[in-house]
Amino acid sequence: MNNVRTSGPLPVPPQVAEASAQGIISHRSDAFRALLPEVLDGLRPFFGTRAPILPFTCSGTGGMEAAVVNCLAPGDRVLAVSAGHFGDRFAEVARCYGADVTVHQVPWGTAPTAADVAEALRAAGPVRAVLLTHNETSTGVLAPLRELCVAIRESSDALILVDGVSSVGAARFDMDDWGVDVAVTVTQKALMAQPGLSLIATSRRALRVAHEGGQRRYYFDFPRMAAAVEEGTTTYTPAVAVLQGLRAAVGMLRAEGPERVFERHRAAAGTLRQSLLELGMTPAADAWCASPTVTAVHLPDGVGASGVRRALEREHGILVASGRSAWKENTVRIGHMGAFHAAEIEDTVAALGRVLGTTAFPRREVQAPGGHA
Ligand code: PMP
Repeated sequence: MNNVRTSGPLPVPPQVAEASAQGIISHRSDAFRALLPEVLDGLRPFFGTRAPILPFTCSGTGGMEAAVVNCLAPGDRVLAVSAGHFGDRFAEVARCYGADVTVHQVPWGTAPTAADVAEALRAAGPVRAVLLTHNETSTGVLAPLRELCVAIRESSDALILVDGVSSVGAARFDMDDWGVDVAVTVTQKALMAQPGLSLIATSRRALRVAHEGGQRRYYFDFPRMAAAVEEGTTTYTPAVAVLQGLRAAVGMLRAEGPERVFERHRAAAGTLRQSLLELGMTPAADAWCASPTVTAVHLPDGVGASGVRRALEREHGILVASGRSAWKENTVRIGHMGAFHAAEIEDTVAALGRVLGTTAFPRREVQAPGGHA
C-alpha cells in the first residue's frame, strides 16, 4: 500500500474505518442523539471552546462559505489576511457574497505578525470581520493566531473568522481564550476521519450576528443548526458514517491527550525540517512559523514537482502533494498530520533525497522551527 504523505484526505486508522462501517443509523434516532454530543464534546479541547460546534455535511470550503454567509452581509467591509492559496480562497468566498474585501497579502513562506495585522487594520479602517488562516497548507506556515487575535482585539470589535482546516486537532487552538468568533475545520485532516464534514465552532456573538443578519441562506444557517444540535440532531441528513468514524478518531486523540498530540506534530515537523536542511533542501516556510502539519520544500532549479512526485510514487510507494498556485511546479509538500508514525516521515525524506540525488547539494545551516503553538 502507498505511504500517503499528502495534506489530506488521508488514510484513516483501522479503528476509524471499522467504526464508520458499523451500520448506518438515522439522525433522528436515540443512537444518534448519543453519538453527536459525544463527538462534539470530544472535540472541545481541540477547538478550546465551550461554544456550540456545528457539523455541516460539506468540505472545508463549504465551512468557509458557511462562516461568510452567516456573519457577513453584502457591502460589509472585511480585512482578509492571506499568506497563500487558502487565505486567498477565504477572501474570494467573502467577495463572492458581496463583501467589500481588503486583502492584506503576506509573502508566501512566512506568516502575518501581530504588528502587520494591527497596521493593516489601521489602514483598512472599521471592518465587520477579519478573515485569518491558522495553518496555510499551501506554504506550510502556521500563523501566530493568539497574537493576531490580541492585536485585533486591541483596536477593533471585528468578528474574527478563522480557517483552522489543517490545524485543529494538531496545533493548539484556544478559541474562547483568543476571542475567535468562528473556527472552521474538517474531518479529513488532523482529525483522522474520512472526508465529508466541516466542523464549525461558533461564538455566542457569531450566533447573534447570524441570527440578526448575514446573508440569505438556507442549508448553512447557524442558528437553526445550533438549535438542532442542542436537541442531539442536525438540521438535515448528515454524513452519518463519517460521524461514526470521527467518534473513534476523537476517542484516540483524547486518549493520547491534546498536549501529546500537539507535541507529536511539532516534533515530526522539526525532525523533517532538520533532515531536509541536512540534505541541502530548502523548506519553504520560515523557521519561526513552520507548520506542525505540512512542510513545503522547494526543489532545486530545473527539477519539476510532477516528475519528483511520480518518481516517489513509482520507486518508493510514497505520495506527496504538489505545490499550489505559483509554487505548483517548484515545490512539493509533505503532510504530517493525524495518524502518522515518525518512521514514515523519515522514510519520506530519505526517498526524496534518493530521488533528487541530493548528495551534490550544499549543506545549509540548521535552524530550529518556531516554538509558538
Ligand atoms: N483551507 C485550508 C487551510 C486547507 O488546507 C484546505 C484543504 N486543503 C481548505 C481550506 C479547503 O478544504 P476542502 O478541500 O475540504 O474544501
